[in-house]
Amino acid sequence: MSPPAVQRITVLGSTGSIGKSTLDVIAQYPDRYSVYALTAHTSKEALLAQCRVHRPVVAVLDDPEDAAWLQQAILTSGLTTNVLSGAMALCQVARDRQVDTVMAAIVGAAGLLPALAAAESGKRVLLANKEALVMSGALFMDAVARSGATLLPIDSEHNAIYQCLPTEHRGGLRQHGVRQLLLTASGGPFRGWQAEDIANVTPEQACHHPNWSMGRKISVDSATLMNKGLELIEACWLFDATPDQIQVVVHPQSVIHSMVAYDDGSVIAQLGNPDMRTPIAYGLAWPERIDAGVETLDLFQVARLDFEAPDEALFPCLSLARDAMHKGGAAPAILNAANEVAVEAFLEGQLGFSAIADVVAKVMALPFEGRADTLDQILSADQWAREQAALIVC
Ligand code: NAD
Ligand code: MG
Repeated sequence: MSPPAVQRITVLGSTGSIGKSTLDVIAQYPDRYSVYALTAHTSKEALLAQCRVHRPVVAVLDDPEDAAWLQQAILTSGLTTNVLSGAMALCQVARDRQVDTVMAAIVGAAGLLPALAAAESGKRVLLANKEALVMSGALFMDAVARSGATLLPIDSEHNAIYQCLPTEHRGGLRQHGVRQLLLTASGGPFRGWQAEDIANVTPEQACHHPNWSMGRKISVDSATLMNKGLELIEACWLFDATPDQIQVVVHPQSVIHSMVAYDDGSVIAQLGNPDMRTPIAYGLAWPERIDAGVETLDLFQVARLDFEAPDEALFPCLSLARDAMHKGGAAPAILNAANEVAVEAFLEGQLGFSAIADVVAKVMALPFEGRADTLDQILSADQWAREQAALIVC
C-alpha cells in the first residue's frame, strides 16, 4: 500500500522523548507530513511551543483547566488549534477520519485506549508504547487484522527485527525458515555490578542510560531489564513467536538493534547509531526510506561488538516477564501494572531499586486466574494489580 501524498499525523505523547524525535523528523518533510493532533499529559508550556511550530488542528491535555489555559494562549498567539481535554479526547484524535497515521508514544498503560482506537480504525500505527501491546496483545493484534491497520514497530529492537524478516512474515516464523529472534539489550547502567551495590542506587543513576536518551520510566525499566522483558512479550505478539523462540543477547554498544537467525545458519542484523529517529523515519516513510537526520554508523569508530548472556539472577524482571508470557491471559497486564506502580514508587524515593522486582514478583505470585479476552477483563486485571502493588509498596 503506497502512502497518501501528505500523511496527516496524530502524535500521542508529543512532548516526550519519542514524541519530540517524531516531530523532528516530520518537520524535515512538510510536503510529506502534516500534524493533525498533538497530545500531552501535563506539560502545557511544551505543548504550546509545539503548537506554535507545528500548527496542529487539535491539541489535547489531560486536565480541563490546563486545556483552557492552552486554548487561551493559542488564541493570543493567533493560532486556530482547537484544544480538547481528557482520556476520551485522546481516542478521538487517534481515530479521527482525517488522520492517516498515529504515533503511539504515550508512556505506560495510559496509552492503551488511544493506541487501540488507532488500531481499530485502520490507521498506520507507529507503535512505541510497548505497554499497550504487553497488556492487550491478542486483542490488539486482532484489531489490527480486522481493520486492516498497518502496524509498524518503533521500538528499536522490533523495528530491527521487522527489517530483518521477509516482507510477508505472517503465519508463523517457522514457515519462513526463521529459527530464532535475537533481541539485543544494552544491559543498562548497572551491567556487571554486584547485588549489594545495586540495591541502593538512586533514580538519577538508574535514569542515566549509557547509550540512549529516553523518558524516566523506560530508563528505569532498562536498568532493571524489565524493558527487555516487556520487549520479549511485545516481540511474541508482533511476530507471532513463542518466548522460547526469542533469545536475549546483551550487546553493550547498542549498535546492533536486533537480529533474526534463519534455518540455513544465516543471521541477519540491523545496525545503526542509537538514535530513535531511525526507526521513527522508517515507520513514517515505509515502504520507502527517507533521511532521518542520523549519521551513518562509523564502523571504525565502533571498532568492536561485544555480546554476553543477561544476568537473570541479578535482574529477575526479565524472567518474571518471560514467565508472565508463558502463563498467558492477564498475566502480562498484571506484570506491567505492578511494574508501573513499583517504578513510580522508586522514582519518588519510596522504594529501593532492587525492591522493584520484589514487588512485581509478589503481585505475580498472588492468585488471580485472569483472562484477557476483553478490554474489561484487561482493565480490571490492571486495576487489581495496581491495588496489590500499592499495598506491598506501603
Ligand atoms: P516520555 O516520558 O519521555 O514521554 C511520555 C509522553 O506521554 C509525554 O508526552 C507525556 O506527556 C505523555 N503522557 C504521560 N502520561 C500520560 C497520561 N497519563 N495520559 C496522557 N499522556 C501521558 O516517554 P518516552 O521515553 O517518549 O516513551 C514513550 C513510549 O515509547 C513508552 O511506552 C516507551 O516504552 C516507548 N519507547 C521509548 C523509547 C525511547 O527511546 N524513549 C524507545 C522505545 C520505546
Ligand atoms: Mg527498545
